[in-house]
Amino acid sequence: MFTARAKVCGLIGNPIEHSLSPLMQGIFSSEMNVDSIYVPLPVKKDLENAIKGAYLLGFKGLNVTIPYKKEVINYLIDIDESAKKIGAVNTLVRVNGGFKGYNTDILGLEKSLKNADISIKNKKVIIFGAGGAAKSVLHLCVNLGAESIILVNRDILKAKKLITELENKNVDLKAFSLEEFKLQLKNILPYNDYIAFQATSVGMYPNVDECIIEDNEFYEKCLAGVDIIYTPSKTRFMEMFLNKKVINGLDMLLYQGAFAWELWNEVKLDNEVIEKVRDMLKERVKDRKS
Ligand code: NDP
Repeated sequence: MFTARAKVCGLIGNPIEHSLSPLMQGIFSSEMNVDSIYVPLPVKKDLENAIKGAYLLGFKGLNVTIPYKKEVINYLIDIDESAKKIGAVNTLVRVNGGFKGYNTDILGLEKSLKNADISIKNKKVIIFGAGGAAKSVLHLCVNLGAESIILVNRDILKAKKLITELENKNVDLKAFSLEEFKLQLKNILPYNDYIAFQATSVGMYPNVDECIIEDNEFYEKCLAGVDIIYTPSKTRFMEMFLNKKVINGLDMLLYQGAFAWELWNEVKLDNEVIEKVRDMLKERVKDRKS
């Protein structure tokens, strides 16, 4: 329920029909008794005018998703330091004269690692992917003090570009093409204590039988695995770790939304409300076999 005084927020992107954010944000507001509403806003073109329009219509905040997380930066009046470094924004907050941009994806991932008791400090990290999400993973691992990071992507040029863009080089960074990584696995990974992040779209519903790397030896060399995909809830990548610690992207999704909600409403969410939304998300995401 909301009144004519409600804070209005929304989701901009294309496509957004499958997004769980409107449901999630709706529950946050109703459970917290906050007078706000969150609406889906499919934007097929002219992002600049869409953002200007949302400001004129009095929107308090927006989430921004595929394909606009980078482009939207051009239309902001201000940007949070960490979002600027990553070069991607997923949350906009109304300020005087326009919107300020934040990246709550990285905050969500950080919180989900903390919840799972996965520490990155002084650890050897492997990241698959060089798209928008992988970029957030890379920045987080640098910020959290990883000892070394190996970035692996199908298109090696994209991986190299991500590495060159990084300002903080206080970490040993290497990039490999997926093909070379698979062929040279033994040479590239001399140790047995890596934390692996899967940040490509490989294995995402409906292509649930796909896996970024099939070689059992790879999984034997890892301590833990993080797949930022949340549907299916257990990807083949996660299954390959057998009994080792693995997490999916559901908590990242949950907490990026929670942090956005808190920025818009200037209220801290109750833990019970967050738990309730997690349960709702778990019910909605598909199992690999379903
Ligand atoms: P992008 O389109 O920016 O990047 C896609 C990545 O996947 C690229 O690295 C691409 O490699 C790789 N890739 C795609 N197909 C293949 C393939 N067949 N073989 C090898 N590599 C492949 O997407 P995003 O970075 O935005 O998203 C990636 C994943 O992360 C998605 O599954 C998304 O659902 C998930 N995600 C989860 C979030 C969460 O809250 N849990 C938040 C954001 C994203 P190449 O560069 O060579 O094309």
